[in-house]
Amino acid sequence: MGRMVFTNARLVDGDNAPQDAMTIVVNGDRFESVGRGEYANSEGDTEVFDLSGRTLMPGMVHGHYHATYTRFSAAEKLPVGMEAPPALQTLRAADHLRKALYSGFTGVVSAGAPYAIDAACKIAVEQGLIEGPRIVAGSRDVSTTGHSQDGFEWHWGSGMTAQTNIADGVDSFRRAVREELKRGAEMIKIFATPGHGVVGFYKDLEMSVEELKAAIDTAHSRDARIRAHIANKKGIMESVRLGIDIVDHGDGMDQECIDFMIEKDVFLVPSIRYPYEACKIWSGALIDEMRSGMEHMIKWLPIANKAGLKMTLGDDYGAQPLDHGTYGEELEFYVRVAGIPPLDVIRWATKFGGEMVTGNKEDLGTIAKGKLADFIVVDGDPVADIGLLADPGNFLAVGKGGKLYGSRLGDIARRPVAAKASRQPALAK
Ligand SMILES: [Zn+2]
Repeated sequence: MGRMVFTNARLVDGDNAPQDAMTIVVNGDRFESVGRGEYANSEGDTEVFDLSGRTLMPGMVHGHYHATYTRFSAAEKLPVGMEAPPALQTLRAADHLRKALYSGFTGVVSAGAPYAIDAACKIAVEQGLIEGPRIVAGSRDVSTTGHSQDGFEWHWGSGMTAQTNIADGVDSFRRAVREELKRGAEMIKIFATPGHGVVGFYKDLEMSVEELKAAIDTAHSRDARIRAHIANKKGIMESVRLGIDIVDHGDGMDQECIDFMIEKDVFLVPSIRYPYEACKIWSGALIDEMRSGMEHMIKWLPIANKAGLKMTLGDDYGAQPLDHGTYGEELEFYVRVAGIPPLDVIRWATKFGGEMVTGNKEDLGTIAKGKLADFIVVDGDPVADIGLLADPGNFLAVGKGGKLYGSRLGDIARRPVAAKASRQPALAK
């Protein structure tokens, strides 16, 4: 790959306020320099793009991704959308991952998938067999007997073994987590509580504290991470105390939970767009509970955001009624419904998302010298109009590791500068 130079860009770097008239240089798979001023060079392999009126921002990250979910539904008992054969589910996952990349999402962190499909897709992307984002591969759901993901009628004599790894007891949890790691999971998913669309109205844990601890310790002992579906305060406090890496949903969160998650450097993926949309089309006790959890979170999210809690985008896309490929609508959703400032939602999608992909290694998620060159060129200013990020038609290109996807940049390319002078990469940040 040669060098790409973007001049006259409005830079939304994923953390700070927008900066105008910026020059960003991509060399290979990383940002070589970010700064102001002209860029003169004599190297023939350099392409220069004048981004006047356009914005360059980091690629976005989907923090709760289910690659295989296809018309998965909480409201209809069967089919649930996960009964399809593994090969078909894998092909669907590949299609969804491609949609994610072209929607500006250069990273996804799995919240669970069957048949080790995430791990296979990750290899396929890295080998160039399919197009897709960076993938943090997920596991089957590790859950206890009778938990809602173990939800087929008992007298049928069948279990959801594809989606769920049933574990009871400390040793069983250790074994289940190790099995998932053996299959290539990098992020273990457990269900610490019911709620948030998961059947079971009790406000307790789905497992004993000892089982929860065994799952978390086992994942960490092999340098893997672990996330938990949690929808009550007890679940948040116990899981964070024991070292969970990501709290999914977090319904029931209060100030004490927020302070504790910040203290322990834990991510929250609120993912309330699913309940918001589901409540519009379904009714019943399960939906009523989702609604009250969602309304509680709408109240608390601005407080958590101001306090500095690391939150990311991500939701149960592929579950009705959220379609794959519409991930970018989530930014406007949090601005409109929860009153989160656009720049903050962009930070969720980029800086915090990048940290979630890499496990807090400062290598991804913002546009800065030396970081991996994942970016989007947006026709317009997404801070002024956050809705632009919902439509990939507004993107001139998506870059992942310096490679362009869906590029229309040829329309604004300048001819390489054929000067004799040596290159002047004097672009101080
Ligand atoms: Zn989920």
